[in-house]
Formats: sequence, structure tokens, C-alpha cells
Amino acid sequence: MARGDFLPPVSATVFEDTGHVVPCRDLWSPIMAVVTASTVIRTLHRIQRQLTDLRSQLAAGPKQIAVQEKRLEHAEHEREQVAENLKKARKHADEKQLLLRSSEAKINDFEAKRNTAKTNREYQLLGEQIDADKMAITVLEDEILESLERVDEINNQQPLAANKLKQVSEVLETLKQQVQKETARLEEEVARVMDQLVEAERDLTDETKEIYRRVVKHKGEDGMAVAEGGCCGGCHQQFTGKMLSQLLAGNVAMCRSCGRLIYEPEAHS
Ligand SMILES: [Zn+2]
Repeated sequence: MARGDFLPPVSATVFEDTGHVVPCRDLWSPIMAVVTASTVIRTLHRIQRQLTDLRSQLAAGPKQIAVQEKRLEHAEHEREQVAENLKKARKHADEKQLLLRSSEAKINDFEAKRNTAKTNREYQLLGEQIDADKMAITVLEDEILESLERVDEINNQQPLAANKLKQVSEVLETLKQQVQKETARLEEEVARVMDQLVEAERDLTDETKEIYRRVVKHKGEDGMAVAEGGCCGGCHQQFTGKMLSQLLAGNVAMCRSCGRLIYEPEAHS
């Protein structure tokens, strides 16, 4: 049989769902004896997992920033709320004091009128009015005291709210700097690992490459799984005898249950 007469070699992997025949390159070329399809996919799976991990680390930074930005927003809102409450409390106290002054003026007015009262009845009525207003003033004075205490209380909350805002804002700034630094480091790492990926993908045979590309496109790194004691490491489906012999020969197989590309763990190759 000449090399050009293509017949599936003994160790070729026939994918049952696609009918793809994947010859193992190392068997054609004695120089490449170490690189089996299983070895290549194992390496690619490791690199893909590394990329997933790096990308999730990259995504974590902006998420942390978003959480801290929410805290800042909350602290800003709190400070505004305190300022608003203080404004309201001051206005309330001012209004009460204004009311007190007008009540006092009213009493003075009544007293002046009483001094020039023409009849006993008029004198008596004005006296009753004055007593009632004086009673109202006593209540008003208590209310003023309470409202001033409230102003003090809110006033004391101001430095606390401002301090908290400052703290949260500082934490956010530090976090942003850390994330920026970390992002640059992770991006460099991603670029380095991507180079490794491209390099490792060169070792794939055309047929395996096609299947690998397809599973990675649909499932990412989860499109590959290691064989675990005769079962798929992804879905735990037991392999057929045919699949087991494919794997033992250093080839990859496709899980009939979940469609993952299966390779043997390192110790078996
Ligand atoms: Zn499976």
C-alpha cells in the first residue's frame, strides 16, 4: 500500500456521528512519535482552561469596581440626605421661632388694648386671650427647643457622612489603580497564552482541527474532556470498547452522549 492510497490506518479515529476519519499523524511519521492526537488535545484543553481562567480574572476587576461605585453612589446619596434633612430641620426651627415672635407681639398688642379697656367685660376677655396665648407660647417654646435639638443632631451626622463618602471614594480610587495594573498584567498573560494556543494548534491534523474548532466554537474549553476510568470526564457516560481502544491508541474520541472531544489523561499515553 502506497502512502497516497488512503485507507484508515489501524489507529485512526472514526467519529461515529460525523464519519470523520482522523489518522494519527505520529503513526505516519516516526519523527513525531510523541505527538498523538490525545497529547495535542490535552495540551489545547489545558491552554483553553488557562484562557478561561485568565478571562474570568479579567472580568472580575470591572465587577469589583462596579460594586464599589454602587457604594460610592450610596454614600453620596446619604450625604445629600443628611444635608437635605438639616435644611428641613433648620427651616422647621425658623418657622417655629417666627411663630413665637408673632405670638409675643400679639400678646403685647392685647396687653396694650387691655390697658385701655373701657369695660370690665372687655378687660376680662382680653385677659383670657392673653392667658391662652401665653399657654400656647409655653408649648411653642418646648417645640422650638426640640427642633433645635434635632438641628444639632443632624448637624452632627454631617461629618460622619462626609467621612464615609471620602473613605469609599478613596477605596474606589485604589481599587481602580489595582485593577488597571492587574488588567495590564492579565492581558499580557492572555497574549502569551494565546501564542501558546496558536503554537499548539499547529500540531493538530486537519481532521482533528476541524472537530476541535467546532467543539471549541460551541462550548469553549468545555467542549473537551479527559477520559476518567473508561468514562467521559464531562458527562460520565461509559465508553464503548471501540472508543476505549481508540483512546488507548493515543487518538481522541467523541463522547456519544455529550459530544465532547475526549482524550486520555497523561499517565496513559
Ligand atoms: Zn460525555
